[in-house]
Amino acid sequence: ADLAMYRVKRSGGNQVLHFESAMGEPGDRQLLERDLRGALDRQELRLHYQGRYAVRGGALAGFEALIRWEHPERGLIPPVTFIPVAEDTRLILPIGEWVLREACAQAVRWAFPQRGLCMSVNVSPLQFDLPHFVDTVRAALRATGLPARHLILEITESLVMRDLERAQSHVTELKALGVQIAMDDFGTGYSSLSMLESLPFDQLKVDRSFTRHLNTDRQPRVTALMGAMIQLAQTLNMTVTVEGVEDDSQRDRLRDLGCDHIQGFLLARPLPPEAAKYLLTGAVPGDEPPTRH
Ligand code: C2E
Ligand code: MG
Ligand code: MG
Ligand code: MG
Repeated sequence: ADLAMYRVKRSGGNQVLHFESAMGEPGDRQLLERDLRGALDRQELRLHYQGRYAVRGGALAGFEALIRWEHPERGLIPPVTFIPVAEDTRLILPIGEWVLREACAQAVRWAFPQRGLCMSVNVSPLQFDLPHFVDTVRAALRATGLPARHLILEITESLVMRDLERAQSHVTELKALGVQIAMDDFGTGYSSLSMLESLPFDQLKVDRSFTRHLNTDRQPRVTALMGAMIQLAQTLNMTVTVEGVEDDSQRDRLRDLGCDHIQGFLLARPLPPEAAKYLLTGAVPGDEPPTRH
């Protein structure tokens, strides 16, 4: 147990909770680590796709690729359980490269350029820290033929904070390529505002921990805060996506606040590709294909 706690604490206080609730016994983690080593080769990793929609008009704007692990005995394992293991073992590097390629390839198969859609891909701090990270992105675009402007890389505040100068140079190079950059989980970190000042993000994704309180007794304060975040982003020429929208009243509030895009179970859950493809043709909520979550 000591070893496991040590490892998790290293990667940040927040993750201690994730780990303890998700992983159970430490022996479990070792098994997971052992299995994860071969998961990529055994083709057990999957990408699910969640739609991102315009608040006004409801048009599909793109998909976010979200990784899952289809474990032969345990079934579908969510990223919160195995991404920390992948990061500790650095397996996140080959896994992240696979995610990038696969998501770009899927965007081409789904004719994203013709449809004017974007594919969002989450990037781990370890990937972003690599000196040759930008080359990896360039190679994925070249190999799949996806034009850069249809790719959005989602990075988090904690990630950016590790090495601001490297982050700045990577973001500058990526933007020169035409790739868009989103700040993910906005509002949950420590120096959000200085990050916005120092890095030219194209998009802001407001964390769903705020969205939840749009219908609790914290609603007045959260509404004010969300309104301010939306205005802040727009003042800096960023588009705003609010995550975790689960019902109509949340969507209506966000529309009134001038939010650009929303993502959440109300509109679409993350879906395996064979189900997500129906979202491309404008299938309406309630008329969705069955979800395998
Ligand atoms: P994220 O990038 O902030 O992704 C959004 C998460 O919110 C997803 O969880 C999604 O399923 C969930 N979500 C979306 N709408 C709703 C909603 O309306 N209600 C609720 N309760 N949840 C909603 P998921 O797929 O479990 O992913 C969790 C996190 O794991 C992601 O957070 C991201 O940080 C990380 N992750 C996922 N895929 C990858 C990946 O390919 N690479 C890396 N490095 N990290 C990934
Ligand atoms: Mg994300
Ligand atoms: Mg997020
Ligand atoms: Mg997150």
